[in-house]
Amino acid sequence: MATVNEHFLSLGQRYLFSEIAARVAAYSAAHPKADLIRMGIGDVTQPLAPAVIAAMHQAVEDCARAETFHGYGPEHGYGFLRKAIVENDYAGLGIEEDEIFVSDGAKSDTGNIGDLLAEDNLIGITDPVYPVYADTNLMHGRRIHYIRCDESNGFTGDIPQERLDVVYLCYPNNPTGAVISREKLTKWVEYARANDTLLFYDSAYEAFIRDPEIPHSVYEIPGAKECAIEFRSFSKTAGFTGVRCGYTVVPKGVSARSRDGQRVGLNALWERRQSCKFNGASYISQRGAEAVYSPEGKAQTRACIDGYLGTAAIIREVFQQAGLHPVGGDNAPYIWARTPDGMDSWAFFDFLLDKAGVVITPGCGFGSAGEGWFRATAFADRSRTIEAMQRIKDVL
Ligand code: PLP
Repeated sequence: MATVNEHFLSLGQRYLFSEIAARVAAYSAAHPKADLIRMGIGDVTQPLAPAVIAAMHQAVEDCARAETFHGYGPEHGYGFLRKAIVENDYAGLGIEEDEIFVSDGAKSDTGNIGDLLAEDNLIGITDPVYPVYADTNLMHGRRIHYIRCDESNGFTGDIPQERLDVVYLCYPNNPTGAVISREKLTKWVEYARANDTLLFYDSAYEAFIRDPEIPHSVYEIPGAKECAIEFRSFSKTAGFTGVRCGYTVVPKGVSARSRDGQRVGLNALWERRQSCKFNGASYISQRGAEAVYSPEGKAQTRACIDGYLGTAAIIREVFQQAGLHPVGGDNAPYIWARTPDGMDSWAFFDFLLDKAGVVITPGCGFGSAGEGWFRATAFADRSRTIEAMQRIKDVL
């Protein structure tokens, strides 16, 4: 009989959002008429930008004729998209096209990157955290060192005293909505350089940054091209959660050690991994992603994000008035706030579901430091969010 990877057995019973879905389903079954407002899962709700739609329509037309049909594309992305990424997202930062790996999204990439690492690496993960980083390392049996992120460090973690092999950072942050200053990110890069630590920097939400002082990319920090891999996604930038397209930047200067002490470049290793296990994002998605960088695409996607940020401001204001000490929401679609009266996170989740018909995400689902906190997202329709806020005010 085949044997399983035992590490899967050490994972929590359910992925956070499955547990939320199960509780909501049970509630809906018991209250079929309940009008629920979902401020839990971080999925976008607004339609794709017209420029993206037009580009994808054209891409479908291309595939309707033999002369312009596209079958398998390059595993690492079409040249037209890699070029647009370099010229727009990394202008002046010295990133080259062969350092960009287009994919079907950042979840796959942040999970799959672990394929490159030996199992005895010590992994630094912030607490609270986007659960994928932790779970995918636990699947490989790796040890995790949690880096507590709370009000005392602006939710950006204290620089560790000990040496870690890898540190995952995500800013603007999911779930806290916090951003990281250039000074603090510089400290993380200095730590990485001093300790030969790899930084995995997830900037899936960079398009929400409005404060001009906040870095969008880790490569804005000198030295990062020698120690950091960056993950990006069109999901939140341009509403591609269903279309699927993202990319990972693996600079040629980033390396890790082999058992015999040699430095091994991770660009070549990732290239090898992706060529073997991935067959490329679809031509239609990539043409859509390319259109995000057109002048119309930029204006339309920015306007859409401004809309979400406007909703976030409404949520934040209500939570502020209710004494819930919100953070985030100004350069991110997430608002992180304290539960009232020291209630635990799941108790507050059940309370809001039952009394207000509002679904939030319990903070403890993102790590033990999230206990006593919850996350609300600004992706729901504006008028429904205003209604949710009224319902929350009424029950608090
Ligand atoms: N990284 C973070 C921090 C996220 O919050 C998400 C999605 O919620 C992702 C990555 C996944 O993005 P994608 O849709 O590109 O897989």
